Order: sequence, then structure tokens, then C-alpha cells
Amino acid sequence: MDSDIARRSLESARAETTGLIDQMSARLASVVDAAAEETADDEHDPEGSTLAFERGQLVAQIERSQARVIEIDIALERIALGTYGICERCGSQIGPDRLDVLPAARLCITCANTRDQSRQW
Ligand SMILES: [Zn+2]
Repeated sequence: MDSDIARRSLESARAETTGLIDQMSARLASVVDAAAEETADDEHDPEGSTLAFERGQLVAQIERSQARVIEIDIALERIALGTYGICERCGSQIGPDRLDVLPAARLCITCANTRDQSRQW
């Protein structure tokens, strides 16, 4: 796979993901504010639990997105080092189809499947 294409797709995925994190963080801040007001008004307001649920969802989504940004950064670093697209486990080329779907993939499909099945490195 052409590493320039990979880098561009990783960079756009990164921009998209950080944009999402900003949106979700802003939403989270307003949910936290709303929850604080609800609590001040009435501790037993059923709205309160809905807000708490949404807050939990947002925190989980933000954490997943942050983990994704880290994965993307690692992949960009690997492009810079010239090791992008090479399986970290067996050293063979990762298929372009796999990199298309998972641009931050660090294992070839064979190793990824082996790892999923055995949970061993
Ligand atoms: Zn491999």
C-alpha cells in the first residue's frame, strides 16, 4: 500500500475522530451542567438518571475515540519509521484490504485471528 495514501487516510481519520471528541466533550459538559441543576432542583427527578446514563455513554465513547487517536498516532509513527503495513508479530506484509478497513492495524489477518482465538502473543 502506498504510504502517502495511508498517511492521508490516517490523518483524515484522526481529524474526524478528534472533531468527534470535541463534540462529545462539549455535549458531556452540558450534560454535567444539566445534571448539576437537576440535582439542585430535585434529587429524585427521573431526568437525573437519564442524564447520568447519557453521561456514562458519552464518557465511554470519548474513551474509545481517544484510544483510536492513539492507535492512529502509532500508525503514523510507523509510517514515519517505514514499518507501516508490516505485521508486528510475524513481520509479513499486512494485506491492503485489511489496511483499507483498519488503517491502524498492527497485525496481519493471520496473526490477528490467531491472537483472537488463543489470546496469546
Ligand atoms: Zn502476522
